[in-house]
Amino acid sequence: MNVLVIGGGGREHAIVWKLAQSPKVKKIFCAPGNGGTAQLAENVPIPVDDFAALAQFAKDEGVDLTVVGPEDPLLGGIVDFFTERSLPIFGPTAHAAKIEGSKCFAKHLMKRYGIPTARYESFLDYESALAYVREQGAPIVVKADGLAAGKGVVVAETLEAAEAALYRIMKEGVFGQAGARVVIEECMRGEELSLLSFVDGETVKPMVTSQDHKRVFDGDQGPNTGGMGTYAPVPHMSAELVEQIVETIVKPMARGMARDGIPFRGVLYTGLMITDEGPKVVEFNARFGDPETQVILPLLETDLVDICTAAIQGELASVDVRWKQESAVCVVMAAPGYPGDYPKGEPISGLEKAGESVTVFHAGTKQTEKGIVTSGGRVLGVTGTGRTLEEARDRAYAAVDRIRFEGAHYRRDIADRALRRS
Ligand code: ATP
Repeated sequence: MNVLVIGGGGREHAIVWKLAQSPKVKKIFCAPGNGGTAQLAENVPIPVDDFAALAQFAKDEGVDLTVVGPEDPLLGGIVDFFTERSLPIFGPTAHAAKIEGSKCFAKHLMKRYGIPTARYESFLDYESALAYVREQGAPIVVKADGLAAGKGVVVAETLEAAEAALYRIMKEGVFGQAGARVVIEECMRGEELSLLSFVDGETVKPMVTSQDHKRVFDGDQGPNTGGMGTYAPVPHMSAELVEQIVETIVKPMARGMARDGIPFRGVLYTGLMITDEGPKVVEFNARFGDPETQVILPLLETDLVDICTAAIQGELASVDVRWKQESAVCVVMAAPGYPGDYPKGEPISGLEKAGESVTVFHAGTKQTEKGIVTSGGRVLGVTGTGRTLEEARDRAYAAVDRIRFEGAHYRRDIADRALRRS
């Protein structure tokens, strides 16, 4: 069969890489793709928001399955657009994807289905929001309702910080329409955990647990980024805890949405805080995480084509989703200056020396006549796998040492906290 993957980051390279292992796949296209996907797929220069051109391409090339990486086209309704044209596509409709696109919508559903999460109120006007913040006191969390590239959330330790955040979002309008409404939440304390699940509307098949490292520098210092590294599975999160999360959070969410006529099909990403009172939801995303995917898919044993196809047909229950008894660690190599401004076009060397049990997922790279060059802030995700977390970590860092581009920086402590506990 022919498959089309939409997106051009590290997550999409990992999806292409996994799909390429399927004996059922004849040809893979990636729109727009990157320097890494070009090695396994044919890159197609169509932007992710040009649904008409993408659907036409899928029709012309006889594409049997389309897999969507990023959230923007999902929220823009690409799944609805393809489905109306009878083109099979893996991902949620625009309505279901709103659980990522509107924090208010997600919170409303969680309340309705009795899913544990932080207490909250939402506001459309600044004065009432301010009064509520003052009444609640610090610490408190202020969030812009819509998508703000991970920057719309302020965990305020003081009342001044909360008031300043509210002013910036609602009065100065720094996030535009995304901040027209705010969600104000109780501040939860605990360790964070991500649990992604394949969902076909009713059936939930959880993946392995993972943890991201959001801050740019070691020891969780410096500004937030798209993610500087991940590992999976999280050894100190027990099978019982995962079971509890699936039974009290993921399944009630999927079943509630199906009952309400907004069935979720695709990857449901649950961001959790493991509090003293048990696991609670921080956020839902409507797609694979980046860079979580770069550690999850290397551990997936089952054919991803079978999973996606079954999910589209509502037959996920019939697929045995199996995982390797191994660990994976992904270290993101970023361009100098990231997450601020950074140069592009720097040649990358050493990619072929990554070594055994290592896969280099390209994020911001481009294939040129001079070879592979940098073209984004997060440049590469270097994933090592091994029988233990330590082995996976050592392999990833050994490969990072062999790969070079001008000014590359990366965290040296990915998975360290978990390793110290074990
Ligand atoms: P991203 O794009 O980074 O996923 P986002 O804009 O969707 O972020 P959230 O995931 O809701 O925002 O929040 C970002 C981070 O803020 C969380 O990972 C968590 O560390 C912190 N956070 C969010 N809500 C709370 C809360 N109620 N209590 C404590 N910390 C929180």
